[in-house]
Amino acid sequence: MSILNADLHCHSVVSDGTLTPEELAARAAANGVQLWSLTDHDEISGQHRAAAAARALGMRYLTGTEISVTFADQTVHIIGLGFDADDAHMREGLAQTRSGRDQRAREMAEQLDRAGIPGAYEGARRYVGNPDLISRTHFARFLVDAGVCRDTNEVFHRYLVEGKPGYAPHNWASLKSAVQWITGAGGMAIIAHPARYRFTANEEFALFHEFKAHGGTGVEVVTGSHTAAEYLTYGDAAREFGLAASRGSDFHSPGESHTDLGQLPFLPGSLTPVWELVADRIQ
Ligand code: AMP
Ligand code: MN
Ligand code: MN
Ligand code: MN
Repeated sequence: MSILNADLHCHSVVSDGTLTPEELAARAAANGVQLWSLTDHDEISGQHRAAAAARALGMRYLTGTEISVTFADQTVHIIGLGFDADDAHMREGLAQTRSGRDQRAREMAEQLDRAGIPGAYEGARRYVGNPDLISRTHFARFLVDAGVCRDTNEVFHRYLVEGKPGYAPHNWASLKSAVQWITGAGGMAIIAHPARYRFTANEEFALFHEFKAHGGTGVEVVTGSHTAAEYLTYGDAAREFGLAASRGSDFHSPGESHTDLGQLPFLPGSLTPVWELVADRIQ
């Protein structure tokens, strides 16, 4: 085992979490996290706050983000860690990635309206902490609080996913661009929660192969999105592709997330932890 309580994946109000970067830092520290990263979707504007809060609490910190990518007609998430949060090229790339979200949200709301749920755009907006970052999670919170669904899990079964009302297809960044923004800013790219995608074996192979060819270096193995069996599957994939392994809760909210900050098994000792490869970027 690699006995470091590293949590390198979570979300604040800067994207679709419900806690501020400072509140997350306090929760992570209280849960015994030793190395932390805030990885908001397509956003890095919380990075300086998160790093300062981590420092004040005696936690080590890596800059982070989770970039939305379209690969083989599906959305894939690529985590960036240890990059320069002031890098202009990366900031432009992320701004570009965020730019289609408002129009997409309007299309989602139109579909929900046709399905008999009016006012979803304005409804979802009330949950948004960052005007540039309206996400399906904000729609899910609106649908739960409006009494349409019992919880966000039910929302993502009945709405907002392909084939259901409230799904608007979207073209995110390319895999190559996302990896290059991260590595160009001195950071390390990591495939987030690979078990969540619905790829064929060939498509998954292509994802790992192309990711590696573009300069990607890691894969999430122990994450709140994986089962224990999936830790083994993707531990094997890490070895097969020569990738380092990452660990993160993907915590969003105390009321919604079943895995709390830092509360997951350690990485197996047979894998190279991603933090060993960015040791010089740890703050
Ligand atoms: P978006 O980037 O707007 O497509 O929203 C994606 C976000 O929706 C993810 O980061 C999760 O926070 C949330 N999400 C997606 N699928 C599910 C699910 N099945 N259960 C709960 N949350 C989900
Ligand atoms: Mn999210
Ligand atoms: Mn994700
Ligand atoms: Mn996430």
